[in-house]
Amino acid sequence: MSDWINFRDVRKNLSFEAVLTHYGVTIKKQAGNRHVGRCPLPMHIGKGKTPSFSAKLDIGVFQCFSCKAHGTVLHFAALMEGLNPDDPQDLRTVALKLRDVFLTTATASPKKKLVRKESSTSPPAGTTRSNLPVLVNPPLDFELKDLDDDHPYLKGRGFNPQTIRHFGLGVCSRGLMKGRVVIPLHNATGRLVGYAGRVVDDTTISDDNPRYRLPGRREREGRIIEFKKSLLLYNHHRLKQPVNDLIVVEGFTSVRWLTQWGYSSVVAMFGSDCSEEQARLIVHATAPDGRVWIFPDTDAAGEKGVMVMLSRISPYRWTRWIQTQQEQPTDCTPADLEKLLPGLGTERKEVLHDNGSLWADTPV
Ligand SMILES: [Zn+2]
Repeated sequence: MSDWINFRDVRKNLSFEAVLTHYGVTIKKQAGNRHVGRCPLPMHIGKGKTPSFSAKLDIGVFQCFSCKAHGTVLHFAALMEGLNPDDPQDLRTVALKLRDVFLTTATASPKKKLVRKESSTSPPAGTTRSNLPVLVNPPLDFELKDLDDDHPYLKGRGFNPQTIRHFGLGVCSRGLMKGRVVIPLHNATGRLVGYAGRVVDDTTISDDNPRYRLPGRREREGRIIEFKKSLLLYNHHRLKQPVNDLIVVEGFTSVRWLTQWGYSSVVAMFGSDCSEEQARLIVHATAPDGRVWIFPDTDAAGEKGVMVMLSRISPYRWTRWIQTQQEQPTDCTPADLEKLLPGLGTERKEVLHDNGSLWADTPV
């Protein structure tokens, strides 16, 4: 995207709600469109019992009557990033970041794209043709019900009822997710933001019926709702942050497998790619003297992903790449895991106590 930026356009098109979610801030709706809560700003000192922070999400402004900070959604993001909102250069930096994270051009027609290429004074990217506000990963206002958590597929993969319940898994019998294991996806604060669905019967997989289905882009009540996996880590909200040892894997199944065997501080990236934002979340979730254990699948994509992660995470945290002969973490036995991740499975005994015979009964 170009570095040409129009502050007013960015501000107008940004959803304050999505920005708040991005920074892990939850505030409650009050009268009208006023939302109030505890002040999340880093320079706010003390923790008053009364919520001092209020924001008007529709017009994109906020104020804190305690630390006196106030301004637009851009000023808010600048303060959250530790930047100076009164410095035009800082404000530009944060506006560019928000634009690249939240505003996309996916609805622009091919013709419009062509015009953009030819002209050097094109309008800023980020304004959709319809000019509808874009909400990225907003919390869902519904929940899938009647999921079958006793489905043979889940047990056949070696997961015990406790693990299946812990992750809220179940096979869906209706709608777009029919015939799939649905996997609830949460943001950092634990709000449900969507579902992934994994095909139960692999013989039905085709171009139209991919193995995994993630939430798509959709229009609802005058807004575009978009799911961006690159801004989330799977299982992030269950971490007791900051953790001393964080295990990072590629997929949902590996998170489940490791958790089942007592490794509770584990997150997945929805694939082998690690975005800048995911790297930031990983660093923040890990104590400054903590350790990040990268445990990818054993293939070319996994290796490429590790290189990116090492470059993005190792400047800030101790980082180690776990390499095995196995294809995936889920192919490792509990004994393998103990060798690869020495001393990290502190809850393993407890898990084994509850389900002592599981490993012998249901190998993967
Ligand atoms: Zn404040």
